[in-house]
Parts: sequence; C-alpha cells; structure tokens
Amino acid sequence: MPADWLTLVGDYCLVFVAVYGAMLAVYFLTGVSLSALNARHPERKIQKGRDGGKRMWVEIRSSVSALGVSSLLLSAGYFAQSRGWTIAPLETSWWSVSLMFALSVVLHDGWFYWGHRLLHLPAMYRFHAPHHKSVAPTVWSNDSSTTVDTLIEHGYYLVVWFVLPIPAVALFAHRLFDQVSGMIGHSGFEYFASKSARWPSPFICTSFHDLHHSGFRYNYGNFFSLWDRLMGTVDPRYDAMVADWEQGRDGETDIAGSADKAAGEGRA
Ligand SMILES: [Zn+2]
Ligand SMILES: [Zn+2]
Repeated sequence: MPADWLTLVGDYCLVFVAVYGAMLAVYFLTGVSLSALNARHPERKIQKGRDGGKRMWVEIRSSVSALGVSSLLLSAGYFAQSRGWTIAPLETSWWSVSLMFALSVVLHDGWFYWGHRLLHLPAMYRFHAPHHKSVAPTVWSNDSSTTVDTLIEHGYYLVVWFVLPIPAVALFAHRLFDQVSGMIGHSGFEYFASKSARWPSPFICTSFHDLHHSGFRYNYGNFFSLWDRLMGTVDPRYDAMVADWEQGRDGETDIAGSADKAAGEGRA
C-alpha cells in the first residue's frame, strides 16, 4: 500500500476511534444517570410488573458492537466531508447550524420510519427481532441492534453528508440528540407526558416507543409521530395514555393485552 494511502487510512482510524469513544461515553454516562433517576421514581414506570432489566448485560454487549457500526457510518461520512469528497457544507454559523440541525432531524425521522417499517416486513424481521426481545425496554436497549438493523436505521449518518450541505458540528449535535433521546425513549419510565406529546402535536414522549415494544405493530417513528399519523400507524391507545399520565393516572391505559400477546410469541 503506497505511503499516502497508509496516511489516509491512519487519519480515518483516528476519526473512527474518537467518534466511537464519544458514542460509548454518551451511552454509559446516559445509561448510569437515567438508571439512578429511574430507581428514585418507581411510580413513573410504564410497564409495571415487567422487568426489562434482566436483559441488561445482553443489551450492553450488543450495543457496544452496534455503536461500532454507527461510529463507522458517521465517521466515514465526516471523513469524506473533511476531505472535500461530499457536497460542500455551509459555513458554520448560528443560523446554518440551527437550520441544518432541524432539517437533519426531520429528514432522519422519515428515513428511520421507512427503514424501521422495512425491518418489520417478514423477509427482514430476523435482523430486527433481537431488538424486540425486550418487550419492556430499558435505557440499555436503544442501541441493542444487529449489524444489518444498524446499517439500515443509521445508514443516514453516512448518506446525509453527500446530499445536505450540513456543517459537521450540526450533524454531531444531531447524533448526540438522537442517542440521548433514544435512550430516554427506551428507558421505560415516563417523565415527558404533556399536551405537546399528543395529538395534534407531532412531538412524542417515552410511552410512544415503549408501546412499539409492548404493542409491536405501531409507532415506528423516531423523533416525531408525524409519519405514523400520516400512515395510520399510531398506536390507538397512545394519545389516551399520554392524557392519563398528565392527570396523574400513571399511564394506566391497558397495555397488558399486547404484552401478553408478545409473551405468547415467546419474547421476553
Ligand atoms: Zn421495531
Ligand atoms: Zn426500540
């Protein structure tokens, strides 16, 4: 291998290690912090009577591997941009970073929704099934995915650099937001139920993706309920469940039926 190729590979490896290290740090710091918070608020548990915690070590092992794939995608895209191989990013400023961050989150939500629905097709489901072994997800579940699952849902982090003139800092901020909000979304404890998390608002709270794990056939979106509302795939119990939480009824809308169904299908 010629010397300049070796330098290029060496430079890329440094970027990969930095990105992977940051993702692992965010994973463990967020996981430990949210676990401590949740331990002090048992009344906020969504699926009472189910213990998702018993899968913690399996999920941590799987997440450490999947975060390597996510890091590969994000760091390869960043490296390509830094070498001038992508479309040129806008100059970094408060408005370009804010605008591109917002646009990127909206675009990724659409990417994620359709990628996630693809993974639920019978021919593809085997790649997504390990993620669904957690019927009651925990903070450790978010990144627990197979390689193919991660390539589909996080392929965005490689492609976006080539189609959006996004300053690097905006996409790194997007990924940080995605990782932390995803971990909150899997944490199994509800802190964000409010009017702004239910119809007609496009925003969501933790119960949204929790229902995807317990109910299985609804709520495929990542950041918003937008695509699910457009495509008729919002869990019919979701808005009532959020209203229950708001009124201090601990999300008592019955989710036992779907959880029993999940148990019947042999999932944990
Ligand atoms: Zn799913
Ligand atoms: Zn999930």
